[in-house]
Amino acid sequence: MSIKDNLSAIRTTLPAHVTLVAVSKFHPAERIEQAYAAGQRTFGESRVQELTTKQSVLPTDIEWHMIGHLQTNKVRAIAPFVALIQSVDSARLTECIDREAARCGRVIDCLMEIHVAQEESKSGWAFDELVRYLHSEAFAALHNIRIRGVMGMATNTDDKQIVREDFEHLARCFRELAPLFDEHFDTLSMGMSDDYPLAVECGSTMVRVGSSIFGTREY
Ligand SMILES: *Cc1c(COP(=O)(O)O)cnc(C)c1O
Repeated sequence: MSIKDNLSAIRTTLPAHVTLVAVSKFHPAERIEQAYAAGQRTFGESRVQELTTKQSVLPTDIEWHMIGHLQTNKVRAIAPFVALIQSVDSARLTECIDREAARCGRVIDCLMEIHVAQEESKSGWAFDELVRYLHSEAFAALHNIRIRGVMGMATNTDDKQIVREDFEHLARCFRELAPLFDEHFDTLSMGMSDDYPLAVECGSTMVRVGSSIFGTREY
């Protein structure tokens, strides 16, 4: 199937309130152009160098999401154009994004990445640490970031029950944080190629789908 066919097959299964982020990491710009021609405008990348290179050659109405681990020394390169940073996982990174956004005269939309999976290797906030930070004076002093919601990944397992529990856990975190923010706190980003239908069942409003659109990646 073509990228266009893959996209329409996925779109027909998604409720209208769910945003599809096409994860284009490791795929060349030409493949992104095919998705763009099929109407896709939101793309996710996991590495800063790749993101900035693609952004510089592709149409300017693409909304670029950063979905991978972000080092503070790389924030400046994406701050002028990034539409959503989904992978904010520390106070230091939050404050760096705020500073770089101010430098560009922007307010940058962000998601807080929460660690729920059983693998230690995955990044993200421990929920209680995040809650503590969101109540801190340091966080209250930031004016150039807008927290739109949370992002997370389920445990990498074939056991659907564990995946469901991880998604329900993320949905609970999302609901518990919502009262701290205004109506712009509306995004629960969870679900990838293998598990997005289950994520949507559990309340996802944003799915990040790569291989089901573009095929398998060659690393
Ligand atoms: C690569 C990646 C995805 C997409 O994964 P697929 O299995 O190819 O759909 C989603 N989210 C994050 C954070 C990723 O790094």
